[in-house]
Amino acid sequence: MDEWDVEKGEWLDLVVKTLRRAFFETKATEAMPPELQAHEEFQRLYRDLQTICHFATSLAGGELSESLRLRGSLAGSLKMLQGNLRHLTWQTQMIAKGDFSQRVDFMGAFSQAFNSMVEALAQSQKALRESRQQYRHMVAVAPFPLVVTSMIDHRIIFINDKAAQLYGVTAEEAIGKNARDYYRESADMQLILEELALHGAVENRIIQMRNDRDEVYFGLLSAVVSTFAGEPVRLVAINDITARHKMENELRRMATTDELTGCFNRRYFMELAEQTWQTWQTQRADFSLALLMLDLDHFKSINDRFGHAGGDQVLRTACQRLRSVLRDGDILGRIGGEEFAVLLPGCGRDGAWMVAERLRRAMVEGEMVLESGERPVVTVSVGVAVPEDAGQTFSDLLRCADVALYRAKDRGRNCVQVWSPAHSDDAQ
Ligand code: GH3
Ligand code: MG
Ligand code: MG
Repeated sequence: MDEWDVEKGEWLDLVVKTLRRAFFETKATEAMPPELQAHEEFQRLYRDLQTICHFATSLAGGELSESLRLRGSLAGSLKMLQGNLRHLTWQTQMIAKGDFSQRVDFMGAFSQAFNSMVEALAQSQKALRESRQQYRHMVAVAPFPLVVTSMIDHRIIFINDKAAQLYGVTAEEAIGKNARDYYRESADMQLILEELALHGAVENRIIQMRNDRDEVYFGLLSAVVSTFAGEPVRLVAINDITARHKMENELRRMATTDELTGCFNRRYFMELAEQTWQTWQTQRADFSLALLMLDLDHFKSINDRFGHAGGDQVLRTACQRLRSVLRDGDILGRIGGEEFAVLLPGCGRDGAWMVAERLRRAMVEGEMVLESGERPVVTVSVGVAVPEDAGQTFSDLLRCADVALYRAKDRGRNCVQVWSPAHSDDAQ
């Protein structure tokens, strides 16, 4: 020390420089100048300053686990800051767990901003809870069956009692089940999913569904894409329309079927025949078409001999017999009392004649036994017509077959006549 010139301040310069390095240059690695090492008190001060410096740097970097054993206002402030940050961390964790009562009051303007954020979060959580609750409530009170299913794995997330009843389970039992299990054909559900992906909604699809007891019913299904508790979902409404569907089918059957014989009635036969005629018109080069008109012979006498009920029985059996000869694609209709018509797609003149002849023979050769045990002999006359020229309408074809039928009656009945222009002259 003696050689230092205190007056000149050289010693002081060294101390200041060393302390500045210790306090402001955190990366200082130089050893303490040997001139100062002998000074114990200085050494302690130097180490403490470095410790505080290191602690402050770690704290600034987010490290909250270090401990600082020093005292004094600077160390105290730093320790307080560390404690506050630790507490803040814990509070944030509590908020993440849903405790929105957490508030900060020890960090000035930050406290205010933090508390506003927590209040806003609490508000939006409350709004979310309420909207989730409203969603559940709406689904629950809807006057028709509603199901909420996950878009991701098709599990039932929520279901109202009406839908659960339809599915044959309780609402609790339904949660978590796969919606696919309630479709009779999973391909139907696939189609619904594809349409939902494309348009976001599906309306009024008639789908065959099945319940937990494996009973099948017809569901009228509408669905929209929605979100429930932040998850993409389908909101599906299903109405059991089995009774309506059956009734519609029955009405359709009644509107198209002849009650006595079970074959198509006149109106529906004409509708189908006209449709087939239109199709044939556009493809006449590819397939042929023929029309047969059949009329049971002397049916008045059958009624006279066996009574009206016996006549009805004959009509029913005659129809069965005609049907047994015809192919699936042939169209058979009862177009009058004891008159039938058959449209034969794919049959030309010769083929039609052969079918007509087979029908005629089936009628006369098949044994007919009435409930009374009586055995009437029933014969039929048949007129055959095939389209002749491009300008013809279906009504023209009907007229031709009719003319051929009259010709068959004229020829003594129980025979087949194919229309030719000469018949037309006969008819006039
Ligand atoms: P043809 O050989 O010339 O055809 O003589 P037909 O006696 O069969 O001819 P017609 O047209 O004169 O008589 C048809 C009869 O069929 C008259 C009618 O009472 C009877 N008929 C019509 N509809 C029904 C029915 O639903 N049930 C019964 N049992 N008879 C019917
Ligand atoms: Mg008749
Ligand atoms: Mg007749």
